Amino acid sequence: MGVGALSRAVFLDRDGVVTEAIVRGGRPYPPRTLGELRIHPDAPPGLAALKALGFLLVVVTNQPDVARGTRTREAVEQMHGHRFFVCCHDDIDRCECRKPAPGLILEAARRHAIRLTESFFIGDRWRDVDAGHRAGVRTVFIDYGYRERAPEHAPAARVASLREAVDWIRSEVGE
Ligand SMILES: [Mg+2]
Ligand SMILES: [Zn+2]
Repeated sequence: MGVGALSRAVFLDRDGVVTEAIVRGGRPYPPRTLGELRIHPDAPPGLAALKALGFLLVVVTNQPDVARGTRTREAVEQMHGHRFFVCCHDDIDRCECRKPAPGLILEAARRHAIRLTESFFIGDRWRDVDAGHRAGVRTVFIDYGYRERAPEHAPAARVASLREAVDWIRSEVGE
């Protein structure tokens, strides 16, 4: 495949970005079942706008509840369509795919011929920003003020919503 065939992508975290995170005590948790899964209202127009700008859309998500045994892989996969890259491990597994490791982004880039230097990662936690940084994409941090540590690497942009993230990317690519 020639260099000209490479596409640019926007990688998106799932919980809190494409879907609504369930926040308890200031900390975000994923939905447990399909019934609890709510698409974030900014997501349909935001994703459509990014697609119209010529970006491939790829969701990259940590789902450690699978490793923890509190959720099945089937329940996670039931919530997903194609172009989802999922890490089902926990920290103790020391895998190369759990964010902040960049493994899933790199795998997606290989599989979909993505040019990382022209790509972005939108996420709402430090793990997303640091994974994007390690993979060599530009990072957009949706800062909901969760009670948890900050990213180790400064994001390229810090915003308050998915809508602002999309607006920032649009202005970066000059359209
Ligand atoms: Mg999240
Ligand atoms: Zn993993």
